This record gives sequence, C-alpha cells and structure tokens, in this order.
Amino acid sequence: MTAQLIDGKARAAALRAEIAEKTRGAARAPGLAVVLIGDDPASAVYVRSKERATEQAGMRSFAHRLPTATTQADLLALIAALNINDAVDGILVQLPLPAHIDESAVLRAVDPSKDVDGFHPISAGLLATGQAGFVPCTPLGCLMLLKETRGDLSGLDALVIGRSNIVGKPMAQLLLREHCTVTIAHSRTPDLPDRARRADIIVAAVGRSNFVRGNWVKPGATIIDVGINRVIGADGASKLVGDVAFDEALPHAVAITPVPGGVGPMTIAVLLHNTLLAYQRRNGS
Ligand code: NDP
Repeated sequence: MTAQLIDGKARAAALRAEIAEKTRGAARAPGLAVVLIGDDPASAVYVRSKERATEQAGMRSFAHRLPTATTQADLLALIAALNINDAVDGILVQLPLPAHIDESAVLRAVDPSKDVDGFHPISAGLLATGQAGFVPCTPLGCLMLLKETRGDLSGLDALVIGRSNIVGKPMAQLLLREHCTVTIAHSRTPDLPDRARRADIIVAAVGRSNFVRGNWVKPGATIIDVGINRVIGADGASKLVGDVAFDEALPHAVAITPVPGGVGPMTIAVLLHNTLLAYQRRNGS
C-alpha cells in the first residue's frame, strides 16, 4: 500500500474559486482588515499573501502596517475603529505581537462578529459548545481535507498531537463534533507511539520534523501534517518539511497531506471562507 496524497493546493484553489463566485454575486465586496505590527519577515510574507488572496477573491483588503513601537492603546483604538467600520467584515491581527502588547487583550477587543481568525474567547466557547461562530482557519481546513478524503468520520479514533489554541484545541473540538473519539497529546503525554498506533486519524501540530515515525502509523490511518519546519536537506539546500517522517509513513497510511502543498494552502482559503461568512451573517444573507 502507498498512501494517497491529499492535495490541499487543489482543494484550496477550488474553495477560493467557489468563494470568488459567491463574492461576485454579493451586493458589495466583503472586506478583510489585516493588522501587522513590527517587521517580522515571516509575518510580512503571510500578510502579503493574505492581501493578494483577498483581492483575487474579489474582496476588499484593508492592510494596516504599524511600527514595532506601537502602543497597546493605539492598537486597541485601531481595532475599535475597524469594529465600527461597515466596509470591514473580518478583522485579523497577525500574530505574534511584540512583547509589550498583551495578546489576549487584543484578541478580546475584536468584535466577535468580525473574528474571522476564530481566536476570540467567544469564538472558542461557541465551538466548544457546538454553536455557530468562527472556527480557526488551519483546523477548519484540516477538517475539510479529512472529510473529503474519508467521508463520515463518525466513530473513528483520532489523535491530535499539540494543544495550542490556534491548532490543537480547536482541531480536537471539530473532530469531537464529527463524533470521533479524540485524544489530545502534548509534551507530557506518555506512550505517544502506542496511542498513535490505535488512531485512525493522526493530526500532527507539533513543530518538530520527523516527529511522527512510520512505525507509529496504524495501517490504513489518515494523516494530516500541520507542521511547518525548515530543515537543511541532503543536498545542502533549505526546505520545508512537516512533523511526520513522510517517506516512512507512506507505506502504512491510506492518505497523507504533503508539506508543502497540504494543510498550508487551506489556511488562507478558509480565511476567505470565514470572511465571506462574516459578510453574509452581518448582512443577513
Ligand atoms: P505550538 O508551539 O503553539 O504548539 C506545539 C504543541 O506541540 C504544544 O501543545 C506542545 O505541547 C506540543 N509538543 C511539543 N513537543 C512535544 C512532544 N515531544 N510530544 C508531544 N507534543 C509535543 O505550535 P502551533 O500549534 O502554533 O503550531 C504547530 C505547528 O504547526 C508548527 O510547526 C507551526 O508552524 C505549524 N502551523 C502551520 C499552519 C499552517 O497553515 N499549515 C498554521 C499554524 C501552525 P505543550 O503544550 O505541552 O508544550
């Protein structure tokens, strides 16, 4: 057996095309505001690609690039202005924030009806209690890939490795909502390989290359590799890999996401999906 590759790039392109089609039919262009503080190069790249994707979907992009020295009060004032700006349907504050700014205060300041990143405690609470809100983009993208590949997930044994608020916890909530039996593993979890060998679904969100080994994978399991790790390959060139020892897992898994080209492209597509949803909810459409 060799695993099917789950083509996140193609799925994301299809989702973006669907969103662009719906946006064309909207009474006005949905708007996404992205706030970037400081000059972290990786964050700048993410923000540029979010802006480009927003425009390609026919939406309005409002980018706010502020210097590292921006005070928390100034940032909160900008968010308050975006909250009451009717042209803005979604607000995203690019993380991480500089150390002098309280991240949780900033995330709480975003109007939950515009919280397209799904990081507001109200969004987390709505997800945990099974109510409609905004689901963080990466785990929702993972779920879309899983459902497309495996169909009904009901009754499956799922292992989520990682418990961050951005990926691990919301991923576990989504799988629970799909009636999986969910284990959340983290750095204090004993016997991780044995737990993994029981799982029909493994979602790896750790941030360590070659973390999930081939002999951890139950035959026929589906693997979603969220990790993004930069390593130096055998040829001396730098490359991106996930958390899973990909070549080792291939003969055991039934399906696996590659890195790059798996989960990554879904994240931005789901951000556009959430922005359209925010527009539709705010306009009762
Ligand atoms: P965090 O660093 O916030 O969380 C990592 C998690 O891994 C923690 O819960 C940690 O446990 C757990 N962990 C660390 N070491 C071990 C171990 N030895 N055994 C078991 N669990 C362990 O990372 P994120 O959740 O933000 O991101 C995870 C990965 O996903 C990163 O590589 C990131 O770059 C990538 N990512 C990719 C995205 C995409 O679009 N494709 C989007 C977001 C993230 P503990 O809580 O105990 O410390």
